[in-house]
Amino acid sequence: MGIIEKSRKKSPWIIHYDCTSCNGCDIETLACLTPLYDVERFGIVNVGNPKHADVLVVTGSVNKRNVRVLRNIYEQMPDPKAVVAVGACACTGGVFKECYNVLGGVENVLPVDVFVPGCCPRPEAIMDGIVMALEKINDKAKKK
Ligand code: SF4
Repeated sequence: MGIIEKSRKKSPWIIHYDCTSCNGCDIETLACLTPLYDVERFGIVNVGNPKHADVLVVTGSVNKRNVRVLRNIYEQMPDPKAVVAVGACACTGGVFKECYNVLGGVENVLPVDVFVPGCCPRPEAIMDGIVMALEKINDKAKKK
């Protein structure tokens, strides 16, 4: 196993994008970074540059305005990469599903690897989703 593969497995870097949401899932995702949940103890680091990220964590539903930004972030991420949809809105559109400008869940515009249901999911469930995404990334790396 090369150094990049090893570091990706031991210390995945994530990028978080909040689409249209009530901010509930956004806040629970950020709670993962606090000392109470301390996601960094698993080597998981939140970054601001998509070019450095292995996992895209998306909260909220996709709409006609944010879809371009979401796709732009995804396309800048290097392969292999994974997408985690966090919360009912990111999974299906949730309470925003019938809104005039909403396209639905993330799956409608990007390939989603892990769905974390709930409104809103607890930080433990979000961290579980990220760990599951790591397995997906490792599977993709093996197929390359
Ligand atoms: S799933 Fe619930 S908590 Fe999360 S953004 Fe949607 S409405 Fe808010």
